Amino acid sequence: MENSIHASTTTLAEMQAWLDQFAMERDWEKFHTPKNLAMSIAIEAAEIMELVQWTHGSEPLENSANNSPIAEEIADVLAYLLRLASVLKIDPAQALALKIKKNAIKYPAPVDSPESTK
Ligand SMILES: [Mg+2]
Repeated sequence: MENSIHASTTTLAEMQAWLDQFAMERDWEKFHTPKNLAMSIAIEAAEIMELVQWTHGSEPLENSANNSPIAEEIADVLAYLLRLASVLKIDPAQALALKIKKNAIKYPAPVDSPESTK
């Protein structure tokens, strides 16, 4: 299954559906409260920080393949984030679009930016 799944062809809604089903099949929904999911996102984000804790911050990671430790932690954060969105009935794509729109107003691109000439 994982060989046919790519960010360019798999929707957030499909990923949410898989995660919702995974939780339902294991009767984990009772544990997936907004508080527990929010804490889990922070804990998994800290696991990403742990992997770069003693680096200088600019050197490339030794291993950033899809099956690397950092990819696994990225997946953990994404999974809990999508579960939280499901539990709260928030459309993550719409929420992101609204946030980007808000940030574009709050932080306008400089006039001479290469993006502004497109
Ligand atoms: Mg983890």
